[in-house]
Amino acid sequence: WLIQDMSAVILVTGGHGLVGSAIQHVINAEPIGSRFGRHGGERWVFVGSSDADLRDARQTKELFHQYKPTHVIHLAALVGGLFKNMKHNLSFLRDNTLINSNVLHAAHEHNVQKVISCLSTCVFPDAAQPPLDESKIHLGPPHQSNYGYAYAKRMIDVANHAYKEEFGCNFTAAIPTNIFGPHDNFDLEDSHVIPGLIHKCYLAKQNNTPFVVAGTGTPLRQFVYSHDLAKMFIWQLREYNDVEPVIFSVAEDEDISIRCVAESIVRAVGFKGELKFDTSKADGQYRKPASNAKLMSLIGESFAFTPFDSALQDTVDWFVRNYDNART
Ligand code: NDP
Repeated sequence: WLIQDMSAVILVTGGHGLVGSAIQHVINAEPIGSRFGRHGGERWVFVGSSDADLRDARQTKELFHQYKPTHVIHLAALVGGLFKNMKHNLSFLRDNTLINSNVLHAAHEHNVQKVISCLSTCVFPDAAQPPLDESKIHLGPPHQSNYGYAYAKRMIDVANHAYKEEFGCNFTAAIPTNIFGPHDNFDLEDSHVIPGLIHKCYLAKQNNTPFVVAGTGTPLRQFVYSHDLAKMFIWQLREYNDVEPVIFSVAEDEDISIRCVAESIVRAVGFKGELKFDTSKADGQYRKPASNAKLMSLIGESFAFTPFDSALQDTVDWFVRNYDNART
């Protein structure tokens, strides 16, 4: 393993969100000393916004001073669905720029050995030639609906290169496709597609009403389960040492239609009523395939993804069990 230091302190920002909780789960659930399990001498610290508001440089510095991390997985971000992005482009630009700038600079000042930050395939150029790959991030403007989030995220990649050039820092980034899993944001308005549909279907079951999905159901998307993604982050932390980012996803041809997602949710929730598609609502892009070739060539073809239906069932079970405390 590349973490040689037997007293590594791994600080995970955004540590109680969807991805942070998944890393917490995997590092504790996998056998000690295994590829994705906890290693002796490692101390994992998961922090949220109540530990420090990372938009604030002073609070960020104090957090680094308190924990003295040797490694950082930087997940904290202002995150939201399409409508929240469209209404608040400035907030997404400003908050995420401040958070990323403060975290990377504090990491540099504390001589952190490695930082992994998080981009997203939704920050790629709107007109990028499919399939998306790691070389296309900056080749044109992002979609206008989320340009604030997209430009702030893209600047992480720019900063990673600049920190390496000027100070020799070992900073890199992951680029996930659509993530789902326990601890997601299940808000009906401001969430991503899977958690939003799970909540809708759950309510349709409770209220004996139809489960209505916006659009025709034909668009295809690549979904990655948060627990699989967590393993990729742990792999990148221990085994990958390059500034260039890596796309974290299932394969391009493993994309799934929104109709299939909805049908899988119906089965997982045990909904017996009518599933309807509201075709008066816009569909968005039909397909935006992203290549996971770089990831698979490095992590190994034997890396096992959780089957979609089983990951979805786990997510629904978690949501139903935690309905009163989940982000709804
Ligand atoms: P979540 O919203 O679940 O988690 C993000 C966390 O960031 C929150 O838990 C929040 O902490 C923390 N945070 C937000 N603002 C601040 C702040 N000012 N100071 C400190 N912490 C803050 O998001 P995800 O887990 O889904 O996302 C993790 C990363 O993955 C993000 O960088 C996101 O951009 C990226 N990503 C997500 C995708 C998805 O489909 N969800 C797709 C691709 C990339 P708290 O809860 O304590 O307030």
